Amino acid sequence: MYNFNSGPATLPPDVLQEAARAVVNYGDTGLSILEIPHRGALFTELLEEGNALVRELLSLNADYEVLWLQGGGRMQFSMVPMNFLGPGETAGYIDSGHWAADAIKNAAFYGNTEIIASSRNEGYRNIPRWEIIPDTLAYLHITTNNTIYGTQFFRFPETQVPLVADMSSELFSRTLDYNQFDLIYAVAQKNIGPAGVTLVVIKKSLLEKQKRELPGILSYKTIAAYNSVWNTPPVFAIYCSVLNLRRLRQTGLQAIESRNEAKARQLYEAIDGSRLFYGTAQEGDRSRMNVCFRARKPELESAFMQFAKERNITGIEGHRSVGGFRAALYNAVTPEAVTHLINVMQTFEADHTP
Ligand code: PMP
Repeated sequence: MYNFNSGPATLPPDVLQEAARAVVNYGDTGLSILEIPHRGALFTELLEEGNALVRELLSLNADYEVLWLQGGGRMQFSMVPMNFLGPGETAGYIDSGHWAADAIKNAAFYGNTEIIASSRNEGYRNIPRWEIIPDTLAYLHITTNNTIYGTQFFRFPETQVPLVADMSSELFSRTLDYNQFDLIYAVAQKNIGPAGVTLVVIKKSLLEKQKRELPGILSYKTIAAYNSVWNTPPVFAIYCSVLNLRRLRQTGLQAIESRNEAKARQLYEAIDGSRLFYGTAQEGDRSRMNVCFRARKPELESAFMQFAKERNITGIEGHRSVGGFRAALYNAVTPEAVTHLINVMQTFEADHTP
């Protein structure tokens, strides 16, 4: 199958095979990966390797903690303000799509929010342009890749206030100066591993700024003090993520970025050259991870979906809130899969346009 799902998404076949073996016998221990204790040496080693891989791949300096949490992206929408937005304080948000808007709604439970820029009125077709970012904000939150609308940040706000980034649908897809962010979070189920674990990278100085008393499970500071094993972490999801990151280290982030760039360019070129299909995101802000497009003849959309399905393509439905098509091009999606999708689009177009 050619899997273009936006998350949970495709993982490399060798990662799946190794994970399958480990379910039966983890590293010749005679134990399943599902059976090892989370405070034992085997898992401690794995977690330390995972932390080191994250640091190395993102070229993080020594100021950061790497945390493996649960509760997904939505939990981060709450944890960020719970920890860093005190009563009476104001946090800034850039409203660039569905998930960004959801993060704003969740922050309102804990303090004031100010929308620094929004592209809602443009149907989120573009990344909104920001101007002045007040230096009185508790933090500024951005969603660097908008999974549903297929837009991506290619430049980032420069600000004195802590910069928080939801990188769920793009982390490990490109080289960046990751040290410009104070807190990065990313759900695993797109570009890292299986659902059930969320990666957080946080500056140690920010950990000290927790704004209210919190139960340990909701406090970054407590979880950092316990090296992500404050409670039982999702051992298997972390294991699969480590397998994937090991593989990514062999390829290198620069090489994966070039491959991702080429895949996206090829698909956008095919869409732009098509008489039937058109891209929905504004050029210049188009995501390399989620390519959104529609048919000029809406009545042909369900026929194309069926046509693609019969040719082993899955996961190209747009999000239920926007419709149309969306192809996720995460790291594990091969260039061959993209070429196949383009061929299928062109064959369909030839059959259905005069
Ligand atoms: N942020 C982004 C950018 C997302 O794409 C998603 C989910 N698709 C979320 C947050 C929410 O993640 P979860 O479903 O794990 O809560």
